Amino acid sequence: MSALAAAILSQVSTGGHIVASNQLYGRSLQLIVGEAARSNIETTIIDTTDLAATQSCLRENTQLVVAETITNPLLRLSDIPALSQLLDGTSARLLVDNTFATPLGCRPLELGADLAMESVSKIMNGHSDVMLGMLAGREANDEARVRDVLSIWGLNSSPFDCWLGARGLSTLHLRFRQACQNARQVAEFLESRKEVQIVHYPGLASHPDHELAGRILSDNGWVVTFDLQLHDDGSGFAAAEKFIAAVDIPFCPSLGEVDTTLSHPASTSHRGLSVAEQAELGIHGETIRLSVGTEATDTVLRMLTAALQQM
Ligand SMILES: *Cc1c(COP(=O)(O)O)cnc(C)c1O
Repeated sequence: MSALAAAILSQVSTGGHIVASNQLYGRSLQLIVGEAARSNIETTIIDTTDLAATQSCLRENTQLVVAETITNPLLRLSDIPALSQLLDGTSARLLVDNTFATPLGCRPLELGADLAMESVSKIMNGHSDVMLGMLAGREANDEARVRDVLSIWGLNSSPFDCWLGARGLSTLHLRFRQACQNARQVAEFLESRKEVQIVHYPGLASHPDHELAGRILSDNGWVVTFDLQLHDDGSGFAAAEKFIAAVDIPFCPSLGEVDTTLSHPASTSHRGLSVAEQAELGIHGETIRLSVGTEATDTVLRMLTAALQQM
């Protein structure tokens, strides 16, 4: 969140305007809409996968457009090259939150973004023991400006966290490869099961952004989201509750651990939205998000099989 704060503080002036994706991480939306508004920064929240709608939101004073490479939990992709083209010749800069992709899965600056941020707290560190962020910029003077903002606003990271983060980064390439390989197998497995209604994973041909994934991602990622079949009484929540109780995978609203974890977006990350707003994003009571870890593939598949057999 410090990385996003630093991006806003360094790029947007009082009276400026931010266009942000309606699928951003919840706290990011709170920062942009709530906190930034106190500095007289105007905001427009829009589905940035709709390029025409995004273009129509741009104003003379738009300074920042914010989107995520891969969104949570439906794993929709941002067409970074197309968004970047929209901003050509305007004074707005494109900031991409690349947390779900990591620099190994996508390199936003090479695709035309002006700024890229990562929550290092997730798979980049990978051990759920630091809170860290990263912000990268395209222009030579980005670093000096961001450095000043970090120092003046006190957003610097603790040296010990940085030390732990460097330890985590040294195995990122290994953990990322195994987690993505597991995730692909998990997605294909879940898609074949009658207890599952739908699987969201950019590597599946059934995903709406599958073709885009082939263009901008070098791997389809380590997060898999799926909807269980409804419980006998027609309740999605009851189905999720039953699955979460049955499965030997820890419940964890964060993600990117070495171990596979799961979350229930409707009651955690997206609980602030109404049922209708959740449904608009494709989130239901029966929606489960898996953060697939680095275990042996068989271990993950066995845990899922055992739980699905009890549904
Ligand atoms: C977790 C997360 C953040 C916030 O990161 P922190 O390290 O918790 O501050 C921002 N964006 C995305 C996509 C995230 O998943």
